[in-house]
Amino acid sequence: MSDEADHIAERKMQFLFSLRSRGVTDARVLTAMERIDRGPFVRGYFTDHAYEDMPLPIACGQTISQPSVVGLMTQALRVTGRDKVLEVGTGSGYQAAILSQLARRVYTVDRHRRLVREASEIFAALGLTNIIALTADGSFGLPEQAPFDRIIVTAAAEDPPGPLLAQLKIGGIMVVPVGQSDAVQHLIRVTRHETGYDYDELRPVRFVPLVEGLGRDG
Ligand code: SAH
Repeated sequence: MSDEADHIAERKMQFLFSLRSRGVTDARVLTAMERIDRGPFVRGYFTDHAYEDMPLPIACGQTISQPSVVGLMTQALRVTGRDKVLEVGTGSGYQAAILSQLARRVYTVDRHRRLVREASEIFAALGLTNIIALTADGSFGLPEQAPFDRIIVTAAAEDPPGPLLAQLKIGGIMVVPVGQSDAVQHLIRVTRHETGYDYDELRPVRFVPLVEGLGRDG
């Protein structure tokens, strides 16, 4: 193996090790995260940090989440191969790409047209044909494709948005960071039952806020 290939293999080993040490233990999630290289989703200057467990800036003033948080949220979502998943907050597209390995189909929406376009280019280049990325205000969900087996929100809401709760199937699960954007937020797992919703508080997190309306670029 060349020195460069050796170096990349070593960084990927460390990447998977740090995921495990931070609580990502689900074998299917780890396999998905081994298969999907974070490199292409981290453009330009920060590419060198792609395999470090830290959030990084992306276009439109947004961030690609920390890999261990992506892993823990994916694990908490308990995705199966039959599931139709909605992600609110495409960002770089990394989380959607991980979900594409576990779900039947992934719809992902972002309020920034540019982020949706750039993520779609990466999905096409990687042959991830079960992801549909759309520009939309995800606080209203995606009514034309509802209901969903799983919903993941990767921006913080003050409360789980009502339209998203309504678009969850009975038996469905939603994972959403809840709290003020400048305060501690908590990752919440919502499970829908015949008669209502159960809420589990999972862990403190820090996300950019869920903002209503489309971005100025789209
Ligand atoms: N999941 C992403 C990280 C998301 S950062 C990744 O894997 O890289 C949060 C994203 O939520 C940002 O891109 C932001 O534009 C988007 N967002 C914020 N409010 C939104 C809304 N109302 N509808 C859709 N997207 C929204």
